[in-house]
Amino acid sequence: MAESATESTSDSSTKPDQSATDAISSPPQSHHVFPEIPIEIVSEEEMAIIDAALAATRSILPCAIRSASPSRIISGGSPKTTIRSITLFTKRKLSAACSADIEDSYLRRFRRNQALGVTDLTGTEWCEKQMENVLCFGRRKVSKAMKAGQARHLQLEEEVVRKVRVRVESNEDKWALKLLNSIAGVNQFLFEGRTRELLLLGFVGGQWIVGIIDELRNAYAQESSDTGPILIDTKTRLRDTLPAEPQRRNGRLQLMLYKLLWDTVVKEGFPTGPFFDYFSLNRHYVLSQDVRDHIANAGIQAQTLEEIVRYYENTFKMLPVANEQLLLKYEFQKDQSIIAEIRFQHDHEWVMSKYREIIEFWRNERDSEYTPEEERWKCRYCQFAKSCPGNPNFESSPPTSPPREASPPLPS
Ligand code: SF4
Repeated sequence: MAESATESTSDSSTKPDQSATDAISSPPQSHHVFPEIPIEIVSEEEMAIIDAALAATRSILPCAIRSASPSRIISGGSPKTTIRSITLFTKRKLSAACSADIEDSYLRRFRRNQALGVTDLTGTEWCEKQMENVLCFGRRKVSKAMKAGQARHLQLEEEVVRKVRVRVESNEDKWALKLLNSIAGVNQFLFEGRTRELLLLGFVGGQWIVGIIDELRNAYAQESSDTGPILIDTKTRLRDTLPAEPQRRNGRLQLMLYKLLWDTVVKEGFPTGPFFDYFSLNRHYVLSQDVRDHIANAGIQAQTLEEIVRYYENTFKMLPVANEQLLLKYEFQKDQSIIAEIRFQHDHEWVMSKYREIIEFWRNERDSEYTPEEERWKCRYCQFAKSCPGNPNFESSPPTSPPREASPPLPS
C-alpha cells in the first residue's frame, strides 16, 4: 500500500459527439446490455458532480489534503471568490456584473500563480457562462449527493493508499509533498500495477494544468494490446441510470484531458525553470525537517524542492504514454454496483480543439458563451437560472427546485 502525505501546518491550525467508438458494457454479473440501461438527462447526483467540476475553486491540493486533513491548508493564491447566497445571485444581472468592466483574464483574476485544474476545464465545457458566474460569485453549497460522491472516492482511495500527516512550513514544503505523492503513486503503479488519486502537474500548450486521476492500472491482455496504463474515472450515481450524452461527453473530455496531461509530461518533460517562476517558488529552499524525514522514509534522498522536482521529472521520463483506450465507469451509489463501463478511444484532435477553445475562454480571447441551445435543459439545474438570459425560461419563473426526473429518457 502506498503512503500519501497529508499536510498540517505549524499553527495546526482534482469527444466527439456520441461516438461510434464508445463501447458501453454492464458489469459481468449483470445481463444488461447498453440499450437496457436507462438513460436520464440528469440526476441530482450527476448535477452534484458537475457542480463539483464547476466549483473548480479548489487549489491544486492532492486528494489526501482535500479530504482527510482537518487542518488542511489551501495553497497560496487561493481564488478570491466571494461566496454569497443564491438569493443574492438572483437579484443581480450576473453576466453583466461579472465581465462588463473587467478586462483582465479569468486566468489572471482567479488562477494567478496556480495551475488550471482539469475540473476547471470540464466545468467550462459544461457551460461557459455558468463557469464565469461561479468564478465571479461562487457556487451553491456542497450537497448531500456531492458529499456522498466525495466519501466514495475517499473510500476507493483508501483501498490502496495509507495517509500520513506531515507538518509543512512553506509553499515549497507543500509542493514537495504534492510531487512526492505523485512519485509514490507512480511507484505503486509500477510495482503493484495500480494506483488511485494520482496527482499530475504538467505544462500543456503553454499553460500549467493539474489533474487528479481517479485510477490508473495496467491494461488486461484481453482489454488492449497497447501496453500503456489505462486511465479510469468512476462517477457515482444516486440512481442506476446512465447520464445523458452531454454528461458522458463531459466525462470523456475529462479522461482525454488526463491522457493529454500524462502524455505531455512523459513525452515533453517537466519545465523546471518555468515551474519555479510561475508558482513563485525558491528552488534552493531547504525543506522542513518533517518533510525531509518523510521524503527519506519514502526512500528518496532530497533536501531541497529542486531535488524533488528533478525526481518527479525523471520518474515520468521513464513511463510509457497512457493507453489509447480510456474507461469511464458509472457506479450506483446505493450498493456500489457498476451501472456501466464506457470504453472509448482517445481522440487527440478533438481534445486539443476543446482544450484550445476552453483556454481561449480563460484567457479572455473571446466572449463566454451560453450552453448550446439543444442543451439548455441544463439551465433548469443551474443556480444562476433566474438571472441568466441564456435560460429559456428567463422571463417566466423557473421552478424553484429541480424535479427529480428532468425529462423522459433520451433515445440511446
Ligand atoms: S442558466 Fe443555462 S445558459 Fe445560463 S449559466 Fe446556467 S446553464 Fe448556462
